[in-house]
Amino acid sequence: MSSPVNIILFGPPGAGKGTQAAYIQERYGLTKLSTGDMLRAEIAAESELGLEVKKIIDAGDLVPDHIMIELISRRIEEPDCRNGFILDGFPRTLGQAQALDLMLEEKGKKLDAVFQLKVDDSALLSRLESRVSEQKQKGLPARSDDNADTLARRLKVYHSQTKPVLPYYEDKGNLYVIAGMKPIADVSKEITALLDDKVNAK
Ligand code: AMP
Repeated sequence: MSSPVNIILFGPPGAGKGTQAAYIQERYGLTKLSTGDMLRAEIAAESELGLEVKKIIDAGDLVPDHIMIELISRRIEEPDCRNGFILDGFPRTLGQAQALDLMLEEKGKKLDAVFQLKVDDSALLSRLESRVSEQKQKGLPARSDDNADTLARRLKVYHSQTKPVLPYYEDKGNLYVIAGMKPIADVSKEITALLDDKVNAK
């Protein structure tokens, strides 16, 4: 790949962003940046930040913008992002989206595409239940925010604060809507077709 490709995977909790980000990371050598994973690592390490955000995450609310912006701004400067990155779970507010544009400009980077994984709300609870049982099968603990009550809150937050970011990218002309209800492999195929074009255009 000659120039970096930087993309966003956008969608509600349980839409399959993490799964598709892992696939894209493997296929194109881009670095997956999951803000949820970054925050959970801080909690596991019992860092100051981890202690600050644990309650917010367990309640299904959003961590304040300034924290998230700082976290991502530092992370995309790391050498493993030189070939490009996949943002999974960021931005989640209009403020984050605007700050992302500013930081990319400052760092001489560019956003190539936003893939919106469109999934019906009714499918999300059963997807989350499968995620919990998969973790169990692997002998791993389930996420503390993967339960029906918190999912309801996370979905509400998605609709009120995150979904309104979509017109921002639509206006920029780099939003691609992906049918996220299809089987995982079909979703990957759809993303690959679009991403191949982006990569080949570089
Ligand atoms: P995720 O793993 O992406 O579902 O994120 C888990 C939780 O981490 C979310 O429900 C939020 O509490 C928090 N979080 C992750 N990314 C962000 C973000 N970009 N802005 C605010 N909070 C976030």
